Amino acid sequence: MKPSEFADRHIGTTADAQRRMLDVVGYGGVEELMDAAIPEVIRWHGALDLPAAASEAEVLAELRELAAANTAAVSMIGLGYYGTHTPGVIRRNVLENPAWYTAYTPYQPEISQGRLEALLNFQTMIADLTGLTTANASMLDEGTAAAEAMTLARRSSRTRSNVYVLDADTLPQTINVIATRAEPLGIEIRVVDLDAGEALPEAYFGIHLQYPGASGAVRDHSEVIAAAHAAGALVTVAADLLGLCLLRAPGEIGADIAVGSAQRFGVPMGFGGPHAGYLAVRAGLERSLPGRLVGVSRDADGASAYRLALQTREQHIRREKATSNICTAQVLLAVMASMYAVYHGPDGLRAIAARVHGRAATLAAGLRAGGVEVAHADFFDTLTAVVPGRAGQVVAAAEAAGVNLWHIDADRVGISCDETTTRAHLETVWAAFGVAPVEDVAGDVAIARTSEFLTHPVFGAHRSETAMLRYLRSLSDKDYALDRGMIPLGSCTMKLNATTEMEPVTWPEFANVHPFAPRSQTRGYERLVADVEAWLAELTGYDAVSVQPNAGSQGELAGLLAIRSYHRSRGQADRDVCLIPSSAHGTNAASAVMAGMRVVVVACDADGNVDLADLDRQVEAHRDDLAAIMVTYPSTHGVYETGISELCAKVHDAGGQVYVDGANLNALVGYALPGKFGADVSHLNLHKTFCIPHGGGGPGVGPVAVRSHLAPFLPGDPLVGNGHAVSAAPHGSAGILPIPWAYLRLMGPDGLARATGAAVLAANYVAVRLREHYPVLYTGAKGLVAHECILDLRPITRASGVSVEDVAKRLIDYGFHAPTMSFPVAGTLMVEPTESEDLVELDRFIDAMIAIRAEIDKVTAGEWPAQDNPLVNAPHTAASVSADEWRHAYPRSVAAYPDGVDAARKYWTPVRRIDGAYGDRNLVCACPPPEAFTAG
Ligand SMILES: *Cc1c(COP(=O)(O)O)cnc(C)c1O
Repeated sequence: MKPSEFADRHIGTTADAQRRMLDVVGYGGVEELMDAAIPEVIRWHGALDLPAAASEAEVLAELRELAAANTAAVSMIGLGYYGTHTPGVIRRNVLENPAWYTAYTPYQPEISQGRLEALLNFQTMIADLTGLTTANASMLDEGTAAAEAMTLARRSSRTRSNVYVLDADTLPQTINVIATRAEPLGIEIRVVDLDAGEALPEAYFGIHLQYPGASGAVRDHSEVIAAAHAAGALVTVAADLLGLCLLRAPGEIGADIAVGSAQRFGVPMGFGGPHAGYLAVRAGLERSLPGRLVGVSRDADGASAYRLALQTREQHIRREKATSNICTAQVLLAVMASMYAVYHGPDGLRAIAARVHGRAATLAAGLRAGGVEVAHADFFDTLTAVVPGRAGQVVAAAEAAGVNLWHIDADRVGISCDETTTRAHLETVWAAFGVAPVEDVAGDVAIARTSEFLTHPVFGAHRSETAMLRYLRSLSDKDYALDRGMIPLGSCTMKLNATTEMEPVTWPEFANVHPFAPRSQTRGYERLVADVEAWLAELTGYDAVSVQPNAGSQGELAGLLAIRSYHRSRGQADRDVCLIPSSAHGTNAASAVMAGMRVVVVACDADGNVDLADLDRQVEAHRDDLAAIMVTYPSTHGVYETGISELCAKVHDAGGQVYVDGANLNALVGYALPGKFGADVSHLNLHKTFCIPHGGGGPGVGPVAVRSHLAPFLPGDPLVGNGHAVSAAPHGSAGILPIPWAYLRLMGPDGLARATGAAVLAANYVAVRLREHYPVLYTGAKGLVAHECILDLRPITRASGVSVEDVAKRLIDYGFHAPTMSFPVAGTLMVEPTESEDLVELDRFIDAMIAIRAEIDKVTAGEWPAQDNPLVNAPHTAASVSADEWRHAYPRSVAAYPDGVDAARKYWTPVRRIDGAYGDRNLVCACPPPEAFTAG
């Protein structure tokens, strides 16, 4: 027997299972099904030019070669990326633990209490360190966090000015990302050298300061802040979290907003990401915060429980009026950073910060003693050494000795110390400068912090490794992730994240590389990035790909900015209308607004397709100002629309560009190529189709893929400023690109197409088996769905009073994560089984849904009261079903072990149904005192 190929492990259904499923669906083979499902106008019959599948052992060996082509040198480059020691207990039990990394965004809070607690710890940590009241969890990186702060300031400032001021000592990549985001919004950026005494403009709505600055200088900004407030402007301070353990907090010097990165709290550099960015605000601004915010609310028994707060600000509700387009964030990395703080506690963090500062102070003392000028008297971890005409020589000497410094210009060298810096590293640096070593000095910081931080007991209770291990386990045990069972979330593609794909992420040659390291040290990464970009171009039929965007939302923005630049390059700057079907994902409209476009909604017809008659009207009305249409394919309604080619032609004919949202690419890979069937640009979600795990709400990678005419407008290098950047690092979250690389290599072209077929078969199998119990809302021309299907609960709700939420929560009692709820149609569930679930799990889900339908019938029949039945009371906790009193109309066994639930595998939710609105009225977004949890 030949050894099993990887594709046979990745695809859950065996050939035999697929035959049985095909019988149910009514087709003779997967190819026959795909021929019927996919419209011939988009069908692509060529062969993919991708390397043939390799075994897991071969792929790991190839990745070892790529890793070996990188050099994990000692990095003293700084600029927002630092060496850090990831505590082993966090690396193995969070970053390498599927209970954390395979979880979904915590939209179903009852089954997400563990990661919600970890994120609340993150928010508390950020709020404490920055001295502000409310922090979110999390931003995509420091550059985009700073850009979000700018628009927050714009929304909140009472001035009419469109000028945003940046201190010249801001990280260069932050300046570049802010500039990208400002231009389409008509915001004018003024970079002001405050250090050189340059004056502030007359009027401005906000100012961005940073300490320590890019140069390492720590300045007292209080006068600038007072002036800004007097001018009616808001003040954003970018601050280094480790620095804030010693330096006065932004909130204490009057900042309205603080931003930055949590990377150096135990998250490896990874050639630029992924890391958690942060954003915190003073009281009064919390309701305009962008991004996800965890808050405390209460469950049906009155017990404290966590859930996402203020969802109504988000793009999925507010669309073009949202505070931001952010969707997938950096949850896994925020969890790691929060656990780094839990592990070290305030004293440990202060000690690390003091040690880092001591290294920098010692380094400075040695340089000065040797006659080298150090530019700033006050610094935390970073120095600018002035060596007229000699910078290149010094940097080269250090590099030859294994230490990377920052080559600022011909006369200046930047040197950053971090947690990993040793005395030996300092000696190497001194030698590179040609100065003699000196004794260690401790050093004092200017503007020292006197306030306490991380005083909540959680930051002191888990200091032994045993306690830490158990804390991590206790949290992950509360959560439902892919390691427990299926997560059939439509549009999210929760498929296998194979261990072999994950392993390379923590190899030091991938993990410990600075994004601005010399090119000669990053050959492996350059090849990895080039391979992923080339393979994705081949798979999608586009000509060029950039992996820089850190999530789908950022890929959307990058793609729309490319369209904007293209029109402008042709003298058609007036083209600013973006047509978006009513069924679109909320990020689409939010991104269009960020790209300076006006959103015009196109209706959908009764079958869920884009209404081509309405499209005609809108195209006609906007013939002169049409920039683009943004459609998802297959549509968010889960069908392959046959009108797509016609739609593309109509828009092109009117001078518009076609953006195809590629989140649903799992239904196309190997069968249809958006770049060939009429689209000009797409983003992909590598955390959906290409196996990067969701991490509980991030990280993600959202490459943007374009046809050749848009290629000149792809994102550029944020550091050198050639072209606009949408992320802080040139290749975004490069550290997780080994995952899609491995997936593509392991599957090969045939395996990828087989996966698509298996995913479409699974969705159609679910649809056919469930359709007599729940109406399937939309199907394509031949009665088939694509890779997901929408179950319409609305008629059932009208007849029974049982809501879609009741069904979603009851699924928890049955041991499932609910499908996507009320997107894209309110009152429905969207099921996406993916190719990775086996038939046993698919049937277990279907049987649970059928059993729930029977329960609903009992409510309709009056057997159970509408106000007291296992659906409205779901989910049931162990405590509630074992309480001494039980006064419900149904027995405890029905509550806890409904039909088909294996008692030995029972998943118990730690809380009952959570009242989200209560928490929004009583907003608490930091760790509550422990007593809050004993009261309930
Ligand atoms: C997931 C998704 C997005 C947004 O992607 P993120 O990576 O979460 O930013 C956009 N459109 C559709 C259809 C999606 O499913």
